[in-house]
This record gives sequence, structure tokens and C-alpha cells, in this order.
Amino acid sequence: MRPRPLRLALAGAALLGGALAAKAADRTVLAIGAHAGDAEITTGAVLARHRRLGDRVVMLHLTLGEGGNPKLSPAAYGEQKRREALAAAQALGAEALFGPGRDGELRDTEEAARFVADVIRQVKPTHVITHWKASLHPDHEAAHRIVNAAVLLASLEGFVSAHPRHRGLRGVYYADNWEDAEGFSPYLYVDVTEDLAAWKAAVTCYEFIRGGISSFPYLEYYEALARVRGALAGRRFAVALEMEPSAKKRVLDTLP
Ligand SMILES: [Zn+2]
Repeated sequence: MRPRPLRLALAGAALLGGALAAKAADRTVLAIGAHAGDAEITTGAVLARHRRLGDRVVMLHLTLGEGGNPKLSPAAYGEQKRREALAAAQALGAEALFGPGRDGELRDTEEAARFVADVIRQVKPTHVITHWKASLHPDHEAAHRIVNAAVLLASLEGFVSAHPRHRGLRGVYYADNWEDAEGFSPYLYVDVTEDLAAWKAAVTCYEFIRGGISSFPYLEYYEALARVRGALAGRRFAVALEMEPSAKKRVLDTLP
């Protein structure tokens, strides 16, 4: 992927009203998906929750996922996906960024990692959410590797780019995605009971989620999944996230 100026779509700050926005929470959540729609459908409820709490929320779509509609050319469906992604971001009160990657051709090249590292340096996330390592979709696996390489690069003094290194990242989390299920074990559960309506409003900006393009029942699956994860978490609705085993290590002076 060739680095190029970020197309930043700022949306929705006004939707939240002054009180929440003025709280100035200290988190910035950056969700990175291989295709426009991946971040929203899997973790949009978590993003909505953090936006509601006053945190900054940014989504980076590495590709538009423009190849997924057999009735439209990639160019035409890509334009549709871009409009849908902007509408979904606005519904979540999030910012949307687009990478220059092409659907089906995402590769974990050094160039791709450098592009994402520069996004990380500019956005300065405290939390990154992306794809789990194993997937039915090669683009998702590539996204996982690109993001992990980029997280490291963004923190290194020796990686020279137009932006200073970013060392404020507190954690990298992996999304619960039906295509990325192999070896995924829910680790962290986030209560999204109050945020499911906002999630639904955002994800239904996408035609493929409303139904009619794919035979996969996205909306039903992810709503039911949130109920299942919620049941296991003792809440009404929850979204589960996974982490690298090494990131789960805790060192304490006493039992928690
Ligand atoms: Zn995808």
C-alpha cells in the first residue's frame, strides 16, 4: 500500500451533546478492519459505548471491501461502501479513515505496516482493536499481521516518519468475528447493554448487513452473539475480545 494523505471524515461530535463530549475521557480507541464494515459489525457496540463516555473513536478501513457484491463492479460497490462507512461512522460519532488497500489483495508488506504505523502515530490510540490471527479470509489474517507490525513500528524511535513515535498504547485487542473463529477464546467481556441500539443504527447503514447481498445473517448473528456473550458475562448484552497470551500476564503484589 502506498502511503498517501489520510482522508479524515470527522463526524458526529455534535450528536453527543456538550455534557458527554466535555468529559474529556483519556482513551482513544482505534479499530482497524480489513474491510469497511468489519470493525462496526464486530465491535461497533464497544465503540459506541466509548464514544458515549466521551472517548475518541477512530476506525481505519484497510480496504473498502469493494469486491463483495456480485451485482456491482468493484468501483461502483466501493463508492457505495465508502458512503456507507461514512454514515456508519457518523451514527457512532466516530472518525473514519480509509487505507489504499484493495479487497482480496491485502498483504502484510512492510509498506502496509508503515502506512498503519503512521496512522497510529497520528491518531495516538490508547487501545487498538483488530482481527484475530486465524481467519477464513486471507485479508483478515493479513490485517492482523499488518497491525501488529505497525504497533511495534509506531513505537520505535528508529522508525522515521513525518510523525513522532507513539508509546501510549495500553493494549491490542482482537474482535469476535465469525470469519476469525479458529482459536479465538473470549477473554475480555464489555457490557454493551446500553449501546446495542446505537450499534444497530450504525451497522444497518451497510446494505450487506441489512441483507440482500450476502446469505450470511450478519445482524441476527451478531445480535445473538452479543446476547450469548452477555449471558456468559452476567449482563444482558456483551462483546467479547481476545488478547495475545503474553498480553494477559499480570504481575501483582497480592492476589487481586
Ligand atoms: Zn472482512
